Amino acid sequence: MKRIELKNIHKSYGNQKVLNDVSFQIGKGEIVGLLGPNGAGKSTLMKIITGFIKADKGSASVMGMDVSKNSLTVKKHIGYLPEHNPLYLDMYVREYLAFVASIYKTKTSRIDQVILDTGLTPEAHKKIGQLSKGYRQRVGLAAALIHDPDILILDEPTTGLDPNQLVEIRQLIKDLGRNKTLILSSHIMQEIEHLADRVLIINQGKIMADESLKTLQAGQQQIIEVEFDIRIEREFLDKLPHISAAENIYEHIWCLAFETQDDMRPAIFDFANTQGLKILQMRQKNKNLEQLFKELTQA
Ligand code: ADP
Repeated sequence: MKRIELKNIHKSYGNQKVLNDVSFQIGKGEIVGLLGPNGAGKSTLMKIITGFIKADKGSASVMGMDVSKNSLTVKKHIGYLPEHNPLYLDMYVREYLAFVASIYKTKTSRIDQVILDTGLTPEAHKKIGQLSKGYRQRVGLAAALIHDPDILILDEPTTGLDPNQLVEIRQLIKDLGRNKTLILSSHIMQEIEHLADRVLIINQGKIMADESLKTLQAGQQQIIEVEFDIRIEREFLDKLPHISAAENIYEHIWCLAFETQDDMRPAIFDFANTQGLKILQMRQKNKNLEQLFKELTQA
């Protein structure tokens, strides 16, 4: 049994089609990234899976149950962190989590457990309003985890965090997701690249790609930026193995594309050496997945 199964989901708001024939299945232990520009339909899709809103057409099931018919039971299996992480700023962390625990009728021992699991211990005595954005996000994660759900759904969980918080929350999500089915959304490709092992690219309510991250990365060109010490001709670079494109971006700096999975940097060094060239700088640019994302999501 698949943990999540969507079949031909359609959803419109007024005249606007927000989801257009969306189908996919997600199994146990998968970490799926929902990647798409703002307004693509990510939040709407997540709300349909969690049972907060209904699709106009199609079916959504969670743990083998139709979401629209079993919305209360389905909610027990899902931990959901909505995009804007609504919290009661006047409540104390522990008080808020006790409140959420009471809604789910979970054992009170879960409160201490999620405080521990999300690294909230040093802040647990504070009011939520006193916490940094990173710690507020931890409170949201703790609340989503209180009933120990099988499935965790996180809507843009890292948006608006500073770089340090970002690293911490990413790691936390990775740790928390280890024994769960995890779906998270982002409009930023790097976020999905860091966290997911399968990527669903969504644009204007349609699924444009559904692949493992490895496959998406493997199908792409390798792009390397090199600065040589002298001016060279384009034809000269054709001697490089696997080269598919070369663009002179500035003076002695070239952007080279290769059709291979082998790391071409050592080969470029050897090539320069035998040709009597010096390399002043070399950088592997992982722009490839980003380019694919742009191609798939351009209107
Ligand atoms: P994303 O999460 O990818 O940014 P959303 O699912 O939030 O996208 O929104 C998709 C589209 O649906 C947007 O154009 C948004 O304005 C519209 N939309 C979302 N919720 C509503 C609503 N309750 N009423 C009307 N339009 C909505």
